[in-house]
Order: sequence, then structure tokens, then C-alpha cells
Amino acid sequence: MKLILLGAPGAGKGTQAEIICDKYNIPAFSTGNILREAVKNETETGLKAKEYMDAGALVPDEVVIAVIRERLEEPDAQAGFILDGVPRTVAQAEALEQMGVDISRVININVSDEDIVKRLSGRRVCETCGASYHTIYKPSKQPNICDRCNGRLIVRKDDEPSTILARLKTYHEQTEPLIEFYRKRGKLAEVEGAEDLSETTARVAKVLEALE
Ligand code: ADP
Ligand code: ZN
Repeated sequence: MKLILLGAPGAGKGTQAEIICDKYNIPAFSTGNILREAVKNETETGLKAKEYMDAGALVPDEVVIAVIRERLEEPDAQAGFILDGVPRTVAQAEALEQMGVDISRVININVSDEDIVKRLSGRRVCETCGASYHTIYKPSKQPNICDRCNGRLIVRKDDEPSTILARLKTYHEQTEPLIEFYRKRGKLAEVEGAEDLSETTARVAKVLEALE
């Protein structure tokens, strides 16, 4: 099972990716998490990515493509995987095709801009493992502590209000064209993102059952 999750920032890709990866026992690769880790560790990639991420802009394609190529070569990626937050441009999607990656399905989670703003402003992420929470929609069991690893929950720098609008603009301009890209290839499944997280999960599960 090789899946791509598409959708605006905050559409719930990361949350669904975590659920699918537990259920099917395949790894989820989030370029956002990989890049944040690189920034934290001040690696060469991290140094290239930081200013773009802080501004809510996309990290240059060549940087992201190198990151994902390297990740997909690892042994744990051979049986299947979920891509969360990549591809995000047509150039990245074309690069995946050129790498010979045969995608089973692309799930687009559709959420209105208004709901995106509401969601991102309440989002909290684990500083240690990257798991995501929401103050209202998906609270952690103990306030500000990760259920998975007991790490500290923080507000991502790019979840600050002014950056949220920049990210939405970037999404509409650069990522939305991928919906047509994958529709043309007969890979697209569309799921309406629900306010209730488990409802979205149920809709995604239906798409996946058709693949089993
Ligand atoms: P979200 O989906 O909530 O915007 P991510 O964690 O996926 O958050 O990404 C955070 C930031 O990392 C993006 O705003 C962008 O700067 C960078 N990034 C992540 N994935 C990509 C990608 N595939 N291409 C370019 N930039 C990326
Ligand atoms: Zn954690």
C-alpha cells in the first residue's frame, strides 16, 4: 500500500497518517516532521529549509526531493508507506514518478479555508515525536503532555495567525493543482474532512478497504 495524503495545511493529514500507519503497520513519512527535525538538529538540509518554513513558504523542490528520495530508499519503505505533506508541487509529483514509485491511491481531504484557520490556531504538536493534537478537537489526555511519549506539546511557529494565511495561499497556488494531476491518472479519492475526527477516519477507512 503506497498512499499519498493531500489536503490543505491542517486538513488532518498527519492525524489520519498516524491512524493508518498503526492499522496497516506501514510507516508514514511526513516531510514537515523530517524537515522540522533537520532544523532542530541544524543539519545542512535544516539550514536550507528554516527560513522558508518560518515564513509559511515551501522549501525548494530540490531540497524536498532529495529528502524523500533518501527516505524511500530505506528498507522499511519497501512494503508500503504513507506520504504526508509530500508531494506538494507538480515538480515533486513528477519526481516521484521518475523515481518509479507506484502510488496505489491519493486521498484528498477537503476542508474549507475557514475551518482550516480554526483548526490550525488550536493545534499543538509534540516537541519530541511530532504527534499532533488540538486543544478542542483532539486534546491530549494530560494537558500539554504527549499521550505517546510524554513529550511537551508546543505551538508550531508556523501556526501563528499571520503565517497560517500565507500557508493557505501557498497551498492554493502550488499544491491544489495536484488534485487534477492525480485525478487524470485515475488515482484520486476524495474525502470530505469532518469536524469530528473519527468521522474523517471512517471515510478514509472506506477508501482503504477498497484497496485491500
Ligand atoms: P502543514 O501541512 O500543516 O502545513 P507540514 O508539517 O506538512 O505542515 O509542513 C510544514 C512546512 O514544512 C511547510 O509550510 C513547508 O515550509 C515545509 N514543507 C513540508 N513538506 C514540504 C514539501 N513537500 N515541499 C515543500 N515544503 C515542504
Ligand atoms: Zn510525543
